Amino acid sequence: MSKKLIIFSAHSGSGKSTLVQYLMQQNPNLAFSISCTSRQPRGTEKNGVEYYFLTPEEFRRRIDNDEFLEYEEVYTDKFYGTLKSEVERMSDAGKVVLFDVDVKGGVNIKKYYGERALSIFVMPPSIEELSRRLHGRGTDTEEVIQVRLDKAAYEMTFAPQFDKVVVNDDLDVAKAEVLKLVTDFLKD
Ligand code: ADP
Ligand code: 5GP
Repeated sequence: MSKKLIIFSAHSGSGKSTLVQYLMQQNPNLAFSISCTSRQPRGTEKNGVEYYFLTPEEFRRRIDNDEFLEYEEVYTDKFYGTLKSEVERMSDAGKVVLFDVDVKGGVNIKKYYGERALSIFVMPPSIEELSRRLHGRGTDTEEVIQVRLDKAAYEMTFAPQFDKVVVNDDLDVAKAEVLKLVTDFLKD
């Protein structure tokens, strides 16, 4: 049976997590793919909920063991990756797996699953607004925010490789748009 998968990618701060959480509330058949990362937990994040937090050494050991479906060094020394076992576990449980990954990861997962996957790129209305949201979220240092903003223009060049692009300007409009895209994709 060919189970479907949903991929969300965006610049950090675009509102991807907000949209993903909304979708998860709307459709209990969606299961969030918990990635591994070697960055520190931020805010109220807990191991095994938002991420599996690994040391860089543990992350490298799992790379060497070929345990990842895909992984990226998204920022210097900050690895993020999706475990094959995580996707299999949820897929076997009959769930539609939902990925929240960086733009390269999104393109790679889409290539791997082809028509089984719907890939959505979440775009902020502008870089200025992206900056406002990253500052407003209040979870990152100024230095981390600058690194994330510097990367945004580069990340934007990946947008045409996604099935759909959703501009997250008015949050309610974006929520309705992603819900419709996902519902239509899962219909048949
Ligand atoms: P990401 O997961 O893409 O890094 P978040 O979902 O954490 O982004 O959103 C970044 C910040 O922007 C959060 O504080 C969130 O509440 C806020 N936000 C998300 N969508 C909107 C929107 N459409 N308008 C204004 N603020 C938003
Ligand atoms: P954050 O530190 O804000 O949680 O995430 C930074 C970036 O890493 C985001 O773009 C997020 O989507 C991405 N990311 C999270 N998990 C993975 C993953 O498993 N693989 C890849 N390639 N990127 C990921």
